[in-house]
Amino acid sequence: MNVANVVVDIPVAQTNRIFDYKIPPHLEASVFPGMRVIVPFGPRKIMGYVLQLTDHSDIEKIKSIDDLMDITPVLTPELLHLGKWLADYTLSFYISTFQAMLPQALKASYEKEIHRLSNELSSDLERIIGERDHIPYQEFIDSGGSYRVLQQAIQAGDLEVIYHVHSKETTKKHTMIHSILDPLQLEEAIANLPQQAKKKKKILQFFQEHKGPIVKKQLLNQLNTTHSTVKQLINDELLTEEKVEVYRNPYQYREIERTKPLPLMNQQKKVMDEICEALDRTLHRVFLLHGVTGSGKTEVYLQAIQHALEKGKEAIVLVPEISLTPQMVTRFKARFGSKVAVMHSALSKGERYDEWRKIHRKEVQVVVGARSAIFAPFENLGLLIIDEEHETSYKQEEHPRYHARDVAIHRATYHNCPVVLGSATPSLESFARAKKGIYHLLSMPERMNEAKMPSVQLVDMRDELHAGNRSMFSRQLKQAIEERIQRKEQVVLFLNRRGYSTFVMCRDCGYVNNCPHCDIALTYHRNNQRLKCHYCNYEEKMPNNCPECDSDTIRYFGTGTQKVEEALQEMIPEANVIRMDVDTTRRKGAHEKLLNQFGNHQADILLGTQMIAKGLDFANVTLVGVLAADSLLNLPDFRASEKTFQLLTQVSGRAGRHQLPGEVIIQTYTPEHYSIKLASAYDYESFFKKEMLMRKTYQYPPYFYLTLITVSHPNQAKVMEITKTISLLLRKHLSESVRILGPTPSPLTKIKDRYRYQCMIKYKNEPNQRKILRKILAYFENDMRKEELFIQIDLQPYQLM
Ligand code: ADP
Ligand code: ZN
Ligand code: ZN
Repeated sequence: MNVANVVVDIPVAQTNRIFDYKIPPHLEASVFPGMRVIVPFGPRKIMGYVLQLTDHSDIEKIKSIDDLMDITPVLTPELLHLGKWLADYTLSFYISTFQAMLPQALKASYEKEIHRLSNELSSDLERIIGERDHIPYQEFIDSGGSYRVLQQAIQAGDLEVIYHVHSKETTKKHTMIHSILDPLQLEEAIANLPQQAKKKKKILQFFQEHKGPIVKKQLLNQLNTTHSTVKQLINDELLTEEKVEVYRNPYQYREIERTKPLPLMNQQKKVMDEICEALDRTLHRVFLLHGVTGSGKTEVYLQAIQHALEKGKEAIVLVPEISLTPQMVTRFKARFGSKVAVMHSALSKGERYDEWRKIHRKEVQVVVGARSAIFAPFENLGLLIIDEEHETSYKQEEHPRYHARDVAIHRATYHNCPVVLGSATPSLESFARAKKGIYHLLSMPERMNEAKMPSVQLVDMRDELHAGNRSMFSRQLKQAIEERIQRKEQVVLFLNRRGYSTFVMCRDCGYVNNCPHCDIALTYHRNNQRLKCHYCNYEEKMPNNCPECDSDTIRYFGTGTQKVEEALQEMIPEANVIRMDVDTTRRKGAHEKLLNQFGNHQADILLGTQMIAKGLDFANVTLVGVLAADSLLNLPDFRASEKTFQLLTQVSGRAGRHQLPGEVIIQTYTPEHYSIKLASAYDYESFFKKEMLMRKTYQYPPYFYLTLITVSHPNQAKVMEITKTISLLLRKHLSESVRILGPTPSPLTKIKDRYRYQCMIKYKNEPNQRKILRKILAYFENDMRKEELFIQIDLQPYQLM
């Protein structure tokens, strides 16, 4: 076994294959599949993953592995297989899928250096390199070094270029101080100190009382002493210091009170029995748990996980990024303590790496995390749970374009274990599969403690306008808010927009300022009176008069959270408002702080965007207001109705979760739309039927599969031509039953000065599709490398803009 099959760190089609490398004798016993290695590639050194070991290669001039980057493999055999499958399934490169499975910190970083080989260089080079033996490549370029001069010098044997590959991972270390003296020796040392050495004395006395080592920082704080004093004692050989590796601890959970499993209600018991049966019999089964908000799904997850742990197995729980609140994490930590790792994109690179290492070292058995936690390197999986399975954030919108649900089911097949998909509003795809018996449907229709779902009132904003109310708050909502404030109850207000910024429109002629590069409305920023593009950062001054008709009635339109906050303050000055949106939660920890403030009743109203729609559980919230239900309904996306239904249901679930009854007010310009009407009646089944009918009529998922091909290029004629060629090739090579739409301009036809065109494949069963798409990609590969052509293929699109 002295040959390694390696996938190299160059994500292009040409290198998307296996390369053979010889394992040099001194590394022979140390290389294993799943390790990162450094290998020579052309003139460079790059990182690669070892897939397999063999004892034969057909390559004549086989090169050798340069070095190892890992002591133990970072990818398990299962994950290596999964990565290969995923790359084929999503039409990605092998290297991209392996990278996607690992924390950022394990990516390689590359450094180029220029080394001097000769004592005499040309004066130009002497000027740049000077006395030194080598300099960073970038410095060479920055100081005016040219490629030609460099090439000549390399040919003449005066210089060489050396490539370094580094791993980016770092570990955090604490300096620990301890005493090396026994109590008697300490006593003596103290007595021997001169009278004036009070500080030293204090430290040694501390170690008389405390036997173990202490973190240096803590010692300094506690004794109010200095580095130099400690240093002197170390020099005197009375104390020693030592660096100890510690985990970065993103959540401080010292005070978490442990919880015990609750006695289950009937509907929970039934669900639990089914999941445990699959667990006990090591059956791969996919359950769709349809349970209304507050029906006790999370408690079922917790107990099912416990069952898996008792059988010596491990569990992964996926939660959407925005629901991964401290409240949510606490529920898991409170039940399983230090057995839990948390993988969250808000963690720093280092923190994520530390959490990953806990899994890798088998120090934890449970992972709670967002999408990429599905790749946790467990080897003995017993249960995979995806909460809020309908959330589109489970689909990765960059290479590799995978859906966590597909990955979960694939892993569960390998481990022969159950998958639980949970939601109050399952995706149409999943519910349809459950109805067909592909998934096992489990239902929890009742809320805990017989709490009722809050009553929902729809308010027609057109009526408000006709009645002369031009504000963004209907009379009903205003009154309801005032009542809550009087009763010292709390309110959640939801708006589907970000920031203060919104578009500018002329009330006279309807003119809207668009970005000249991106074809989307510019947004108004009040602080500097400017209009900005949210894609490319283009900006211009806010005009005083309409550029079309010169009217002075041009002004911003629509509502952002900041504007709502101001209007709210004006309408109800005594109200205390916390605003939560992208802008107020940008800083680390801000999210948690604001929620805590609201939880402690430091404010009456929590006003926010999507991020407050889920997961929050506050006992005192009795009113939820939705300001403009229509904003989602009008996106160019065939899932717009489904998304509106899901969002309204979710938002409503925030009210009246405890003793106090809840009320929901939804403001809309189209109260007659079925997704708004049925969401207000909590009628998922009727919505499902109605929406399935629409999907069938217009040939959308789950009746048809979609593939979206988006082509972009700075030259519009070129994009149109290439997209046309692609659609012709598809028409020619795919089967008759397939429908090909387009080419058409994408809804966002221009982003960052690139034109975007698309075509869409609608199909029921097309086994050859991937092969043909790969060929098309290969056909354009040269153009993609040389020119500024992008072809993006999404085999299960969720973003249709
Ligand atoms: P979901 O995840 O479906 O929204 P939760 O699991 O959060 O529901 O449960 C809602 C509330 O009911 C929580 O406060 C939870 O602690 C409580 N709860 C859940 N199961 C039980 C039970 N068996 N007995 C008593 N209270 C429960
Ligand atoms: Zn105008
Ligand atoms: Zn722009």
